[in-house]
Amino acid sequence: MQFIEQEFDYGTTTALVALHVGFVCAIIYGYCFGFYTISWILAGIFIVGAGYGVTIAYHRMLTHKSFVCSNRTVRRVLIYFGGLLQRTKSWVANHWSHHAYTDTILDPHSPYVPYRGGIKGWWHSHLEWLFWKYIPPDKWLNHPDLKDPDIVWEDRWHIVFVISGFFLPALIAGSYGILTVGSHAFFWYGIDAFFLSVIRTVIMLHVTCSINSFGHMVGWKAREPNDRHFTSDSSRNNPPLALISFGEGNHGDHHLYPGSARIGWLDPSWPIILFFEKLRIFRDVKRPSLTH
Ligand SMILES: [Zn+2]
Ligand SMILES: [Zn+2]
Repeated sequence: MQFIEQEFDYGTTTALVALHVGFVCAIIYGYCFGFYTISWILAGIFIVGAGYGVTIAYHRMLTHKSFVCSNRTVRRVLIYFGGLLQRTKSWVANHWSHHAYTDTILDPHSPYVPYRGGIKGWWHSHLEWLFWKYIPPDKWLNHPDLKDPDIVWEDRWHIVFVISGFFLPALIAGSYGILTVGSHAFFWYGIDAFFLSVIRTVIMLHVTCSINSFGHMVGWKAREPNDRHFTSDSSRNNPPLALISFGEGNHGDHHLYPGSARIGWLDPSWPIILFFEKLRIFRDVKRPSLTH
């Protein structure tokens, strides 16, 4: 079922199908041959990079402006890693829509509209919404924040960044193969890291999607301290999800304090933000009490 008046997005759908076909091939490859240690190390680096890129840079810094990054290199590195999977401009604009219209027809990925939860609602909020061209309201597409030079930079190079997420690990692992085994090892070390990059990308995609689906369906609602009333929208706190999603899984707390740089009590991104704050690279870091 289509979500309001939306065109089918052939480009994104084809890419998602290809990615999942690649995932199955990569699992079969891994089952038959296993993966080299260098591929695992690179996958770990890219998982942490992409995780923090989306949570710290895309979500907290660019979308909610919960802190300011004064170092251009750090800012761009974080945005680059976020860009391995998702385009900054649409990510930020879609997320503004999600917060402004949570669980209404204008929410790009609500499990409850147009479906009323259940498997269909879960599927729509998890991945199916990406099959349709969601156009955020003009007020956000033309928002001055989206003219941020680093957002424009990511938007221009997005496809290159996505491709680099697969080929950069392959190139590094291939070069490592040449150095440790010999020139004939380049291909096998490269293909090994490439396949593990596909697996890593699909896992990261589903972790991100889980915030939109499970983050609004499984867990408990948030409320202000000393307040009997829970948040009125469907957002939930889910500690296991928070742990694997770099803190985003305490989604109920996030809807309660969207401007806070810290999300809930279990937030693996928070020590990193504090670290950069100590270095004076992140400034004006907003705590929950400062966001009202
Ligand atoms: Zn939400
Ligand atoms: Zn948010």
